[in-house]
Amino acid sequence: KDAKGNYTVTLIPGDGIGPEISESVKQIYTAAKVPIQWEEVDVTPILVNGKTAIPEAAIHSVKKNTVALKGPLATPIGKGHVSLNLTLRRTFNLFANVRPCLSIPGFKTAYDNVDTVLIRENTEGEYSGIEHEIVDGVVQSIKLITWDASERVARYAFEYAQSQGRNRVTAVHKANIMKMSDGMFLSACRQVAKDYPKITYDEDLLDRVCLQVVTNPGPFSDRVMVMPNLYGDILSDMCAGLIGGLGLTPSGNIGRDASIFEAVHGSAPDIAGKGLANPTALLLSSIMMLRHMNLGDFANRIEKATLSTIAEGKAITGDLGGKASTKEYTSAIISKL
Ligand code: NAD
Repeated sequence: KDAKGNYTVTLIPGDGIGPEISESVKQIYTAAKVPIQWEEVDVTPILVNGKTAIPEAAIHSVKKNTVALKGPLATPIGKGHVSLNLTLRRTFNLFANVRPCLSIPGFKTAYDNVDTVLIRENTEGEYSGIEHEIVDGVVQSIKLITWDASERVARYAFEYAQSQGRNRVTAVHKANIMKMSDGMFLSACRQVAKDYPKITYDEDLLDRVCLQVVTNPGPFSDRVMVMPNLYGDILSDMCAGLIGGLGLTPSGNIGRDASIFEAVHGSAPDIAGKGLANPTALLLSSIMMLRHMNLGDFANRIEKATLSTIAEGKAITGDLGGKASTKEYTSAIISKL
């Protein structure tokens, strides 16, 4: 934040439809007079000592600004390339992945009352990448759970609940089977819960939660769910499926050194450059970013204009069953601000 109250935020437009949907977000922000200056950086991977790396200028920008909005990155196919998303996660210690799924009025899905928030541990668990073959035909994969990472993500979940007015945190687990690893995850959550006496804390089994969410998502609208890595990966996609459409699902990667907000979808090469992409997921990710930055009034205004444009249905993009171009949809939102 500078002396005039303006914030500088790193913008990674990304590949494929990335530049088109980023342009839409920029136009809407200008129209809404959001006090943000974008610092655009390119993260096209470079090879350093034979390994994929992010250009130094991009790392520097995200480290300096500590907040970034990111378009989708196409993962290069071929040997020697690590996923750039994974590289970003490691570079900035992005320890919590926040995925809210909110039904959009006017966009018909099985339920119209989905309002879930799921926080996924993003650095370890089943994704620690420690695997080895003990003897021929026997492979061991290590699920690594540490107190520090569990405590850190639990604390973030309570902070998030508190700041968003949700009065319950549910730890989702399989400690009935994985008594030590998930058991420790739960112990960390219980300890953190003591620091938040106004928020109800409870625990539930992953399988039970899946059944409850798909049977009746309503009761989940007052709470935040927090869980180890793999459970969050799967459960968040299940929740996303309930609100329908890749063009609508935002996310935030919260880190120790920075936070990066991004749409869940990829670079959509099939429609890139045609002006057809739906910018909503990136826009909703940016709204999460505004709330993270305590710019909630701007977030509320833009969200209202966006949701009412979709509800009206007159200027929506092809993926939502409409005929509008990215530009027409963007203009419709701007006219409602
Ligand atoms: P995708 O999400 O790019 O596309 C799947 C389908 O959904 C396509 O038909 C596409 O047209 C449609 N779609 C996606 N976003 C849309 C939007 N905003 N508006 C309208 N339609 C939309 O998935 P994919 O084709 O499997 O992946 C393409 C590339 O993106 C790959 O290189 C992949 O590695 C990468 N990817 C990146 C991220 C990320 O950066 N976070 C996430 C997923 C995939």
